[in-house]
Amino acid sequence: MQTATMDLVAEKICKRYRSGTKAVDVLRDVSLTLTAGESAAIMGPSGCGKSTLLNVLGGLEPPDSGAVRLGDEAPYELDDQGLARFRNRRVGFVFQEHHLLPQCSVLENVLIPTLVGGGDGAEPARAMSLLERVGLKDRLTHRPGELSGGERQRVAIARSLINGPTLLLADEPTGNLDEATAHRIADLLKEIQADTQTILVVVTHSAEIAGRFGRQMSLANGALNTSR
Ligand code: ADP
Repeated sequence: MQTATMDLVAEKICKRYRSGTKAVDVLRDVSLTLTAGESAAIMGPSGCGKSTLLNVLGGLEPPDSGAVRLGDEAPYELDDQGLARFRNRRVGFVFQEHHLLPQCSVLENVLIPTLVGGGDGAEPARAMSLLERVGLKDRLTHRPGELSGGERQRVAIARSLINGPTLLLADEPTGNLDEATAHRIADLLKEIQADTQTILVVVTHSAEIAGRFGRQMSLANGALNTSR
């Protein structure tokens, strides 16, 4: 398998879940390649396996078979420590629920992923710069409860970027937001992805949101239809 340095490659991913005696093949031989600087949206009905695929790509959920590679690293070939480091350093996650710690300030929330592993001392400056980028430089000491839904997602986006990931995964990042806010958050993700040349994969129900990203894919019956 030949890949450029920072490609994300998933090859023949299979994932089956069992519930009681019933087995569900959520992903059947799903293959996907995204190059550095590419963005893609994954659509599909609820329960079709979009989150499962995102989790497999991000090192959160080992597939039953198949391989994932990001640049020169294959997360599921790493030991536990290596896999944890891969998730922390190489991948940024944004979820539908922001998962911010309510007792921590905006700035502290953005710094949480830097608490694992050795830092270089520049983390607070980097966090402030990211918060300025997402339009929250006047909210550094606010608690999440004092922010709007859109502002909380902006904090989650800044947090996802603090360790300089090469892959950004967003699972229904606009699912809890009103339409206008959802579009602004989607635009922000796209702009940041273009600035940083990360690979971005966004799961969304909305065709309008999906249309903002470079490629549109749909998942159905365990198969991924890619636009190319
Ligand atoms: P989507 O993100 O498209 O809504 P999911 O990836 O969350 O879909 O789930 C796909 C299917 O796999 C669903 O039927 C779900 O119930 C099932 N599933 C997801 N995670 C598990 C799990 N840990 N154990 C058993 N079944 C699961």
